[in-house]
Amino acid sequence: MRPESNAIRIQTERSNEGEHSTPIFLTSSFVFDNAEEMRAAFADEKDVNIYSRFSNPNVTEFEQKLAALEETEDCFATASGMSAITASFLAFLKAGDHLLACSSIFGSTHTVITKYLTRWGIEYTYADINKPETWEALIRPNTKMIFAETPTNPGLDLVNLEWLGQLARKHKIILNIDNCFATPALQQPAKYGADIVTHSATKFIDGQGRVMGGAVCGRKDLVKEVYLFCRATGPSLSPFNAWVLSKSLETLHVRMERHSENALKLAGLLEHHPSVKSVKYPWLLSHPQYEIARKQMKAGGGVVTFELKGGLEQGRRFLDAIKMCSLTANLGDTRTTVTHPASTTHAKLTEAERLSTGITPGLVRISVGLEHITDIVSDLEQALELSK
Ligand SMILES: *Cc1c(COP(=O)(O)O)cnc(C)c1O
Repeated sequence: MRPESNAIRIQTERSNEGEHSTPIFLTSSFVFDNAEEMRAAFADEKDVNIYSRFSNPNVTEFEQKLAALEETEDCFATASGMSAITASFLAFLKAGDHLLACSSIFGSTHTVITKYLTRWGIEYTYADINKPETWEALIRPNTKMIFAETPTNPGLDLVNLEWLGQLARKHKIILNIDNCFATPALQQPAKYGADIVTHSATKFIDGQGRVMGGAVCGRKDLVKEVYLFCRATGPSLSPFNAWVLSKSLETLHVRMERHSENALKLAGLLEHHPSVKSVKYPWLLSHPQYEIARKQMKAGGGVVTFELKGGLEQGRRFLDAIKMCSLTANLGDTRTTVTHPASTTHAKLTEAERLSTGITPGLVRISVGLEHITDIVSDLEQALELSK
């Protein structure tokens, strides 16, 4: 079956009740009929559930669906995107290893790398996303992993996955891609040579702003290392959240298509608005990496950023004038969400630090939701008018 169908049809074995939808297995442990069965389970001779920190039917169902969507051999789900990313580092890196990471990455990932990995003797270098020609020279004999996001949050910059996959293979380095913004509905990094694909399921995968979750997809042998690390350290996904996320995957393709359709319409209109200096969206011809986007993504995704002519002050006035859309840090929701990074999420950075990650004073990030596009556009247009 095709990935879209697998996302709907993969299901935990039915119980004697003949239920159509999967029940929630709220149980911390699983029972055995006799001493021999229990011994075999603990000796890993049988693939059965023992304890929900290790595995649970709802979590397994979500993992199998996500692996089918990414078209990877396996997947392990975790309690949040950050626990997935942290586990994907700690399962493979040890003191003395070097991590080459793209400079434009999610704030908490940056903290894990600079504050914690260094504490455990793991070195890192940041590579400039806009200068890919400099990356190869940054690889050292002890470089064990390359980590990147594409498209990046909030810069919407892209990495050429085919090129990066070849670079990683040439140097025998694990390539780890955070696929949170595109989701497997729009981009499958493993096809271009990513060994590991990490996810915050909290965003577009849930898609309705309800639960936290994360996942690591990839080759069986690599996902096993992540599983063993998590089985021991415990950032497991709860059965309830896994149930929600498994249901969410059934509509992922349909939602991502509409998110992308709405976002492209909005981006096109904003490009011609007199208050707007510039617009960034992977599917606009004006995006510097438009060709790469067309090659490795099926659509542009749900996030649009734009720069207001009036800078920081106009950014704040714009937020105050919003009526329908939500002012919130989350993204990937059915509801359109708006953030002004310079005065909120990135306010603690210096102006120079903000500019180095592409956050200009008037930058606004919109995660375009599934409301009717006419309503999204009229809310944003009236707010632009009032913020002049
Ligand atoms: C939100 C986000 C994360 C972290 O995910 P959580 O589920 O919040 O822990 C990681 N990467 C990207 C790109 C994100 O947007």
